[in-house]
Amino acid sequence: MVDFALVMVIALGTIWSDILGQVRINHPRLVRGWFSDLRLTDVEDGIVRIQAHNQAQLNYLQQHCRLAFLEAAQAATGRLVSVAFKANDTENTPSQPPVLPFEAEGDQLLLNHDSTFNNFVTGPCNRLAHAAALAVADDPGRAYNPFFVHGPVGLGKTHLLQAICHAIREQRPETAYHYISCETFINHFIEAVEQGLLHHFQYRYRHVGVLVIDDIQFLAERERSQEEFFHTFNTLHQSHRQIVLSADCSPSEIPSLEERLISRFNSGLVALLDRPDLETRMAIVRKKAKLRYIEVPEDVVRFIASRIDTNIRALEGALIKIDAVSQMYSGEITLEIAREALGSDSVRSVKIPVILEIVAKRLNVKVSDLQSKKRSKAITYPRHVSMYLARRLTSQSLEEIGGYFGGRDHSTVLHASRTIGEQAQQDPQLRQLLDEVALEVKNTSQ
Ligand code: ADP
Ligand code: MG
Repeated sequence: MVDFALVMVIALGTIWSDILGQVRINHPRLVRGWFSDLRLTDVEDGIVRIQAHNQAQLNYLQQHCRLAFLEAAQAATGRLVSVAFKANDTENTPSQPPVLPFEAEGDQLLLNHDSTFNNFVTGPCNRLAHAAALAVADDPGRAYNPFFVHGPVGLGKTHLLQAICHAIREQRPETAYHYISCETFINHFIEAVEQGLLHHFQYRYRHVGVLVIDDIQFLAERERSQEEFFHTFNTLHQSHRQIVLSADCSPSEIPSLEERLISRFNSGLVALLDRPDLETRMAIVRKKAKLRYIEVPEDVVRFIASRIDTNIRALEGALIKIDAVSQMYSGEITLEIAREALGSDSVRSVKIPVILEIVAKRLNVKVSDLQSKKRSKAITYPRHVSMYLARRLTSQSLEEIGGYFGGRDHSTVLHASRTIGEQAQQDPQLRQLLDEVALEVKNTSQ
C-alpha cells in the first residue's frame, strides 16, 4: 500500500530544495546561513508555508524575502501559489506573542524610491545631519543613539530618515527596521490599551533592530504615549538598538514634552536642518531635474532657486510647474517660460539693508558699526544676529551676505548664523527677538 504521508514528505522535500536552490541562485545577497534550518511545513489552499526558527528570522524573512520566496515557490510548484512565513518559537512559547495587534509591513511608512543618500544634496545647511545619518546607517546603535534630526517643514527630515532605512535595507538586510509616523505609534498604543494587548505592543516595539519615527513632535501633550515611549526608548537604547527621530523643532521646543524625554533625546546627536543657501538650492534643482529627466538651463536653475528660498518641496513644485508649462510650447525650458510659469508666485524680497536697519535700531548700534571690522562684543553680537537673519530671510548666498558686512567670507557668516541658531534653541528671549525682528523685516519689505 502506498504510504501517502511518506509521499507527501518526499514531495515537500523536493519542492523545498527546489525553492531554496532558486533563492540561493537568484538572490544570493539575501541568503543567510540559517536558511538551511527553515522548513516547508505544508502546501495547502495555494499557500506555501515556511517555518522559521525564531522571531528574528521571521522578521527578516517578512521584511526582505517575500518576493524572492514567492518567485521561487511559484517556479518550483508551477502554480500561482502565495507564501506565508511563520516562526517556530512563537507557536510553542505562549509568552512570546505570535499574533501582533498590527502587521509590521502594513503599518510601516512606504519608502520613497528617490529618498536615498545618493539623491540628498548637501550644503552648509545640512552637512552635519547628513554625515550623522550616514554614520547611523553604517553602524546602527553605535554611532549616535538616538539620532534626532529637526528643522522647519520641507527641508529633508523625512528624506534623511528614509535614506537611513534604504541604506539599512541594502547593507544590513538582517537588521529589521521599523519606520513609522509618530501618529502610528500613538494609535497602536491606544488600540493596544483598549484591546488589553499592551504586552503585544511592548513586545513589538521593544524588539525592533532600528526604530525610526517621523514627526515625533506629535507626542506633545500626549502624557500616556510619552510614558510608553520613554520605556520603549530605554529598552531599545539599553540593548544598543538604534533610535532615529525627526521633529519640526528641537527636543526642548516640543510643547509639554517630559523633561526625562528631552534629556534622552538630547543624549545622542541632535542635528538641525537649516534652510539651504542659494548654491545648495541650485544644486537641488539640478538634482531634481535630473531625477525627472528634465533639461533645465543654468539661468533657469538660478531663477527657480532665487525665487523659492524656504522650502525644498516648493522648489520641486516650481520645477514641475515650469516643465508642465513648457510642454504647452515646444517642450524646451527657457527663462521666459519659467517666468510665465511662476508668474507672481510669492517672491521674498527681503533686502539685507532692511535687516541691518531694524537690528541696529533694536539693539542700539549703528548700521555702520555692523558693517565695520570692529570686534567688541557689543558690536559682534548684533552683527551675528543680522547675519543669522540675512540667512533666514533672504535668498542671498553666504558670500553675498558676507559682502554686506565689510566683505567677510562665507565661513564667518556660516559660523555666526549657526552660533545664533544654537543659542536661540536654548534662549527663549533671543528666539523672541529673532521672531520679532523677522516679522518687522517682512512687514517693512512688503
Ligand atoms: P520634511 O520631512 O523636512 O518636511 P522632506 O524630507 O519631505 O521634508 O523633503 C521635502 C522634499 O524636498 C522631498 O522631495 C525631498 O526629497 C526634498 N529634499 C529635501 N532636502 C533635500 C536635499 N538636501 N537634497 C535633495 N532633496 C531634498
Ligand atoms: Mg517630513
